[in-house]
Amino acid sequence: MTNPTEINSVSWDEKTKSWKYTIVKVEEYHGFVNCQYCQKPLSHNIKSDGEFKVVYVKCGCSRT
Ligand SMILES: [Zn+2]
Repeated sequence: MTNPTEINSVSWDEKTKSWKYTIVKVEEYHGFVNCQYCQKPLSHNIKSDGEFKVVYVKCGCSRT
């Protein structure tokens, strides 16, 4: 698997009560954490805009 250059991260928006997608540019990629249920990536550890952060994505458990 090659390191992604950007990740379509997802977060819950309380205002609109819906999932919000944000494309996050990846400067450095530091691995991911698998969902314990479906064994698909659930979050990615990256450096973006000079900051280390964890971005969440939808794993295989999500139906929508
Ligand atoms: Zn899952």
